[in-house]
Amino acid sequence: MGLPEIARRSPRLVAEGFAHGFFGRRGGTSPPPFDSLDCATHPGVDADTVRANLALVAGALGVEPSRLHVVSQVHGRAVREVGPGDAQGDVARTEADALVTRAPGVALAVRTADCVPVLVADLRSGAVAAIHSGWQGTEVDVVGAAVRALVARLDAAPTLVAAIGPHLEACCFEVGDDVAARLDACAPEALAVVRAGSARPHVDLRRIVRWQLIASGLADAAIDDVHGCTRCEAAAFFSFRRDRERSGRQVAAIVGRQVADPTPTQWMP
Ligand SMILES: [Zn+2]
Repeated sequence: MGLPEIARRSPRLVAEGFAHGFFGRRGGTSPPPFDSLDCATHPGVDADTVRANLALVAGALGVEPSRLHVVSQVHGRAVREVGPGDAQGDVARTEADALVTRAPGVALAVRTADCVPVLVADLRSGAVAAIHSGWQGTEVDVVGAAVRALVARLDAAPTLVAAIGPHLEACCFEVGDDVAARLDACAPEALAVVRAGSARPHVDLRRIVRWQLIASGLADAAIDDVHGCTRCEAAAFFSFRRDRERSGRQVAAIVGRQVADPTPTQWMP
């Protein structure tokens, strides 16, 4: 209960002065089994509690609650751009799995419970993106779609950095041969499918997402791995694979910043 805890941060995004966080389950006001920073409405969840939790997340990022935006996630590759005057409700009703903005002070958030959250920032313009990439989104390269949408809205060539957040890591992401083959095919160079003996294959989505970011123009060194397995770390994260219908949803969020911020490292979590 109480103040939301930012479970993990990207050292790279901190150093570049972008307010952001990979939030976990700690903090907030949701009762068990969704204790306690559940940030998505789903069966059995009180919408007011979720609203209150999102307001706490906004506060932790230093923005007004009305400036924190989410979308209706559908495991696709649609990207929603958020302008400074966009109404929260309009954005929230948009079916998309990535958000981009070039507006300083606008916060973008994605909800996950095993899927991969990815935060992207342009050091030159201050523009940012938040991406929800589960295995289905990864298969359709929602990361690439979001980076292209972000770059298309910029006036100058960007200098992008990204952070790949906690998710159902390779230790726990066991799949059937069909899903393994499909993910292998979408990023063959990523070598992300692990087969040990006769065990079912495991997939390292982090490797595929990194490969997709590089294919979208990011430098390998500009990508932070922010580690954490949602299923293994029960005290820190919600996990649908672990808890099924009794799992809440955590958020990853980032705030667009001023272009010529004279003190870009001022933000301290
Ligand atoms: Zn694990």
